[in-house]
Amino acid sequence: MVIATGTGVLGAGAASAASFYNPFSGYRITGTWQDHLNSGSLGGIDYGMNVGTQLPAAGGGTVRNIPDNGTGGHTVTTYHDNGYRTQYMHLSRFVLADGAVVGTGGIVGLSGGQPGAPGSGNSTGPHLHWHMIDPNGTRISPLDYLGGGGGGGLPKTATEQDGIPGTIFWQRAQNWLRIESGYTGPIDGVPGPNTYAAVQRDMRDHHGYAGPIDGVPGPNTWAAVQRLAAAHGYTGPIDGVMGPNSWRGFARFLNEDRWD
Ligand SMILES: [Zn+2]
Repeated sequence: MVIATGTGVLGAGAASAASFYNPFSGYRITGTWQDHLNSGSLGGIDYGMNVGTQLPAAGGGTVRNIPDNGTGGHTVTTYHDNGYRTQYMHLSRFVLADGAVVGTGGIVGLSGGQPGAPGSGNSTGPHLHWHMIDPNGTRISPLDYLGGGGGGGLPKTATEQDGIPGTIFWQRAQNWLRIESGYTGPIDGVPGPNTYAAVQRDMRDHHGYAGPIDGVPGPNTWAAVQRLAAAHGYTGPIDGVMGPNSWRGFARFLNEDRWD
């Protein structure tokens, strides 16, 4: 799979807008950059998450798997087109072949960090360690690279044009729901019951949905989503059947800068 990730010659700020984002903005930071420096590390950001959590690529590139990389344990490096690298450490599992090409948001491994487990390195509890390396070989904070103090930096979804909801669309939806409706799951673009339950909470609070919060959206849930879409240019029926025009209206809402 090859996915274009921009021109590859952008500065960090422009690149973040074009093709990089924080896949982990929905997780709690358990170790800051300064915490790492204080403990003698070259730096990183730790996010608490259960072992086996899917790890999306912060940007597209070529993947290198490094098994048992010293204290880092199983480490996956993504070589981005613009010369930067992203490293995730303490993995429980690699999921791509060495040398595979991944797009932004593609899953590059599963998190680990259980003390003593294969691949955990020196980890003392389940978490992901994330840092970046600039083209000069200097380790840098991904949150500095992305700018805005670690906000999402999500790209805009093309659903506004093609009417087909995909990974970026649902990542933006999850980030919206994280900010507005208490969603605490991953920003992975793969909607499950937790994502849909958060949609239902938001529809209940803002768009007249009166059904159950059960994570199983039916026509009443989707009719409420169509009312949201109608506030963003959708002019079709409120019938609970999502078609391309319903998705386009929903996407115009999700593409607002505040959900980046
Ligand atoms: Zn760390």
